[in-house]
Amino acid sequence: MAKVYNWQIGREMEYPYEGARPKKQFAMVMDLNKCIACQTCTVACKTTWTPGRGQEYMFWNNVESKPYGFYPLGWDVKILEKLGVQDVNGKVYHGKTLFEAAPEGEHVLGFLPDDMDYAHPNIGEDDSLGNMEQGAFLTLPHMQWMYYLPRICNHCTYPACLGSCPRQSIYKRPEDGIVLIDQTRCRGYRECVKGCPYKKTFFNPMTRVSEKCVGCYPAVEQGRQTQCTITCIGKIRMQGFISTPDRARADSPIDYIVHIAKIGKPLYPQFGLEPNVYYIPPVHVPPAFLGQMFGNGVSEAIATYRKASGDKKLLGALMLFGATPQIIHHYKVEGNTSIGYDEKGQELARVPMKEPIQIRAAYDEKLKVHRSNTT
Ligand code: SF4
Ligand code: SF4
Repeated sequence: MAKVYNWQIGREMEYPYEGARPKKQFAMVMDLNKCIACQTCTVACKTTWTPGRGQEYMFWNNVESKPYGFYPLGWDVKILEKLGVQDVNGKVYHGKTLFEAAPEGEHVLGFLPDDMDYAHPNIGEDDSLGNMEQGAFLTLPHMQWMYYLPRICNHCTYPACLGSCPRQSIYKRPEDGIVLIDQTRCRGYRECVKGCPYKKTFFNPMTRVSEKCVGCYPAVEQGRQTQCTITCIGKIRMQGFISTPDRARADSPIDYIVHIAKIGKPLYPQFGLEPNVYYIPPVHVPPAFLGQMFGNGVSEAIATYRKASGDKKLLGALMLFGATPQIIHHYKVEGNTSIGYDEKGQELARVPMKEPIQIRAAYDEKLKVHRSNTT
């Protein structure tokens, strides 16, 4: 195995291939405080990419209710159990990654879900106490809380799907870091399904090859954000590109959120894949649970998020979520307005950072009518 640097765990780690970072890295930020589990993103992705035969059970984008919801069943708790106790509190993660914990002769520690694990796309929906009768996997009691976790492929910097493919059918595009499966090389061994800890590759029983989220690459190539992003009802998502921390740009909204304000956190960084979907943790969930899921610094992230109205740059970046279908590369805050620009510097969106408030007279003299003001 080669040695590569993974900034999310703060150290070098083993990976089956030499590290080769792309020119730009596809990334997404999702604000978990805003998701309402309407599943519009899921349907948008489904109708765009997976409406065919053999794809019935595939959800390249899914939204599950945590802590009891899973797709497929128990996807994360099963691999967490296999990996063993992990101390995720320090800046450097000293436990083993999934590559370092691989059994003899294999590249990744993984498991293949059963077919029936895909039977319920959102089992445990809206369940905050674990009362469901059918399909329960996690039975741990806890205080009453829950939140929605939307998930797509993380277009990881060190993809386990790629690392576990014996035919080298999976590749990471050097121009944007999107991870794709070459359908003509794949022979359907399902090693990628076993290897991806996020379970974001899917075997198609009709074509007998594997498929996965393609990062809406035809749209991204045209400077447009992904379908799941532009259709999001809650405006919880922003898709664009992320720099490594040493090259973080203060004028990139994603860099600002992840590297400068440090409120965007990767999902299970201890797995070692350097995933590129970042989550703003839900403020009402106990930090111990969030720490296991999003790594160190979640309490600080929540404190910073709560004070976002006092940081104009941060507020400006957050206000640009859902403001335009195009990819925002640069932004700036002018007075109380946040302005987003494309790669060439052309203006894409202009968003007021304070809701304009207009209070009208209770009685309109001109029209001779009474009015009510709502807030
Ligand atoms: S469309 Fe947005 S708000 Fe609705 S479920 Fe998807 S991520 Fe959540
Ligand atoms: S999330 Fe899974 S399928 Fe996507 S790049 Fe990472 S390892 Fe591969």
